Amino acid sequence: MRFTYLGHASFKVESDGKVIFVDPWLNGPTSPVKVDDVTEADIVLVTHDHGDHGYDEAIEICKKTGAWFVAINELSLRAKEAGVENAHTLNIGGSVQIDGVTVTLVQAFHSCGVGAPTGFVVRFPSGTFYHAGDTGLFASMSLIGDLYKPDVALLPIGSYYTMDVHQAALASTLLKPKCVVPMHYDTFPVIGADPAEFAKLVAQRDASIRVAVIRVGETMDLP
Ligand code: ZN
Repeated sequence: MRFTYLGHASFKVESDGKVIFVDPWLNGPTSPVKVDDVTEADIVLVTHDHGDHGYDEAIEICKKTGAWFVAINELSLRAKEAGVENAHTLNIGGSVQIDGVTVTLVQAFHSCGVGAPTGFVVRFPSGTFYHAGDTGLFASMSLIGDLYKPDVALLPIGSYYTMDVHQAALASTLLKPKCVVPMHYDTFPVIGADPAEFAKLVAQRDASIRVAVIRVGETMDLP
């Protein structure tokens, strides 16, 4: 799977000939990619409706590319009302298969305006990744680990709105991915965090889990 970090919680993931965007906050201060630059997308996932997770941009991307919009029921219904033709109205625990890619909506502990906050498990034929969304630590991350065995876990480390480096390090051991990628830090002063400290904490708990720090705008093949 090829991950491009667009800053904050935004990723472009390419695998098996598919292009997926997660939380595409392309109008935000960090993203080197703007909506106008996006010419191709198959699926766009939005974890919740807070402004820094790219709901508005997701609508634009889906309209211009015909990509599927996938989010929790109430948010997807809103996307349909906004003119998105292809939208899946999942709820937590539910899965949908889109052209060989299985997307599962999972819980997150956070807040939001519409529906409920979520994370995603995405299974390509050649690999599985988990995007935690914005969340605090929760013990049933171990169930996500047991059920889906994610190769790659994308976890927030910035604290203030989400888990901090210590919680995310413990989360890594619950999920047992081959590789963990820190996200949702350094965008604003209040979520400043050191990915090197996160890497050290993960290594102390489980040295078999690789920490991949992707710089904003950088692309990495993982795991
Ligand atoms: Zn949020």
